Order: sequence, then C-alpha cells, then structure tokens
Amino acid sequence: MGTHKTTKAKPRRPRARCGLCGKTGKLTRTECCGQWICDDEHKYKLFSYAHNSCSRNHRRYTLCGYHHNEGHAGDWKTCEKCKKDFEDEVEMYVHYSTNEYNFEKLDNLPDYEPTLCSKCKKVIVLGDGGYSQRGDEYWCPKCTAAEFPNAF
Ligand SMILES: [Zn+2]
Ligand SMILES: [Zn+2]
Ligand SMILES: [Zn+2]
Ligand SMILES: [Zn+2]
Repeated sequence: MGTHKTTKAKPRRPRARCGLCGKTGKLTRTECCGQWICDDEHKYKLFSYAHNSCSRNHRRYTLCGYHHNEGHAGDWKTCEKCKKDFEDEVEMYVHYSTNEYNFEKLDNLPDYEPTLCSKCKKVIVLGDGGYSQRGDEYWCPKCTAAEFPNAF
C-alpha cells in the first residue's frame, strides 16, 4: 500500500500559438478548420506577393482553405470534389495538401506525372511558382522570362 497522492495540477490552459509558425501574438481562428493562426492578413498588403501572412497562406495555398472557399462539405482530406477539381493538376493537389502552410498533411498522396516545360522540356515544380500557363501548355520560369520579359 503506497501513499496515494493526487497531484492537483491547476487546469492551466496552454497559451494559444499559431499552428503554423508557433507565435503567440495576435491570433485568430481559421475559418476553414478552426485552428489558431496569426491574425496577420493585414501584413500582406505591405509586401505584395510575399508569403508572410500565416492566415493568408493557409487560406490561399492549402487544400483545406480551398475546400472551405469552394463550399465543399466534409473533410478536405477525403473530398472527392477537391480531387476532381485538381484532376488535371494533381501536382498542385499534392503541393496544396503537403506544403508548410498545412496544419495536417495529407499522407495518402496520389501519383502524378511531372509537369514539363512545353518549350525546353525541363521539369517545372508547380509549387515553386514563376511558371506560366497557356491553355494546355506550361512554360518554365526561364522560358516565360525569355519570351515575355514583362510577364512578372
Ligand atoms: Zn484550414
Ligand atoms: Zn503564424
Ligand atoms: Zn473539397
Ligand atoms: Zn522552359
């Protein structure tokens, strides 16, 4: 018979942190999945094209955000509509569901063929951006810049 000690830990609520960068500053909940995230959308306007806003990154560059914006029902990870929307761009589906803006990453990933530049035939990493698309053609950043110096 030992002494039965009940440690009465004070129910201390852990301080909320942004689920993406871990900061504890001004936070808000994501509309799509209710996770804590930096309330930093306002920062974006100052630095256009920068991926410096956690809430914007999650909303714009993840399947979770996309799924919510499109008004799909259920869980994005098993959403057939999302899969269908990206059926011609499976690489983006994979990118949107595995990049660092996700709280949870998809682990059951579909296979995809790499996207090749229609001009120089090099592999284009769609997730890196900078490429251009014309109809069914994809142009790598280099070929895009060569052909359209003012494209970006
Ligand atoms: Zn979300
Ligand atoms: Zn953050
Ligand atoms: Zn969906
Ligand atoms: Zn190219």
